[in-house]
Amino acid sequence: RTPLSDRDPEIFGAIAKELKRQQDQIELIASENIVSRAVLEAQGSVMTNKYAEGYPGKRYYGGCEFVDIAEQLAIDRACKIFGCSYANVQPSSGSQANQGVFMALLQPGDTILGMSLAAGGHLTHGAAPNQSGKWFKAIQYGVRQQDSQIDFGEVEDLARTHKPKLIIAGGSAYPRVIDFARFRKIADEVGAFFMVDMAHFAGLVAGGVYPSPLPHAHVVTTTTHKTLRGPRGGMILSNDADIGKKINSAIFPGIQGGPLMHVIAGKAVAFGEALRPEFKDYAKQVLDNARALADVLLRRGLDIVSGGTDSHLMLVDLRPKKLTGKAAEASLERAGMTCNKNGIPFDPEKPTITSGVRLGTPAATTRGFGVAEFKQVGELIGDVLDGLAAHPDDNSAAEAKARAQVAELCKRFPIYQ
Ligand code: PLP
Repeated sequence: RTPLSDRDPEIFGAIAKELKRQQDQIELIASENIVSRAVLEAQGSVMTNKYAEGYPGKRYYGGCEFVDIAEQLAIDRACKIFGCSYANVQPSSGSQANQGVFMALLQPGDTILGMSLAAGGHLTHGAAPNQSGKWFKAIQYGVRQQDSQIDFGEVEDLARTHKPKLIIAGGSAYPRVIDFARFRKIADEVGAFFMVDMAHFAGLVAGGVYPSPLPHAHVVTTTTHKTLRGPRGGMILSNDADIGKKINSAIFPGIQGGPLMHVIAGKAVAFGEALRPEFKDYAKQVLDNARALADVLLRRGLDIVSGGTDSHLMLVDLRPKKLTGKAAEASLERAGMTCNKNGIPFDPEKPTITSGVRLGTPAATTRGFGVAEFKQVGELIGDVLDGLAAHPDDNSAAEAKARAQVAELCKRFPIYQ
């Protein structure tokens, strides 16, 4: 009965401050979003109390009849959104979804081929410090120097030379449409499974503004909390019943125990939202906003890696202004715009410094920003970065000026009122 504010004022205070931070700044981190009140409510529900090892109708615990409803709805809605016959909604994160696929389809020591972190791939696609890089023989492809797009000649050569058992497409900082059919052709030629990690663009696929990998991939993994706008978590999809069976065993009992039923309830709610017609409008707006933002930044003298974007994200190359990602991220944050420094392909700077920042439109689009607002955001970013180039040691004047406009925008488009 005791409310959180009384039971634990320190945590209550931290949450209150985090709420205010989210309300008062413009979120430009490409992997983040703002979930609905309904998703928050489901995730903060009593389903957190329930152990439900197993799958709906086949549990190792009693009392699962109501969590079964939530999980079955999540599965059915996921299959409906993505037009597939199999979904596992239990992975606790995107990383665990990928691990689940590896556990199902690979043996330690097998060869995998994924995009390198430096080119925009994800840690779990075979990066050296990650389990995927330690337990498998990980071969990495990159992007072409001239246009920062996937080098299919390189992918083909590496696949033919190393004969991977699994080829992975998708990434965390790749702004362009991926040619899934071409990847599948290469996978078929060398007898590999083809997996797409659509964590970043799943919401765009759901909204019909980015090609679906499902007709091409043996298996598709995703997070549920990025463009898909659900609670933090992962999911695995397929149209292959045999692979589905293996993946179910790989997730439980292979790598997880009891699934997070409160999160699965939140996933079901978010998938229900993604099935509504408004979600198509949202996805289209995310894309329109990203293109508008990229256009303004180009006009303001910044470079956009690959010359633009086909998705919700862009990589801004700061070198024309002689700035680092580290300094730009800090200055933009002081101006009320949150983003992350990010290496650009062939980055001359260390990963802790970088020559770029990654920007994304999903979160601010959720709060109602359209093209006009994103054009304004682009100008604000241009002002802050020009200020930083001119006054690298103290950009407080430009930051304060931008912050006032950020405050006005956030007030016009409130969240969690
Ligand atoms: N896959 C991709 C492409 C990602 O971008 C991310 C997260 O950024 C993940 C997987 C991992 O997701 P999580 O952070 O939920 O483990």
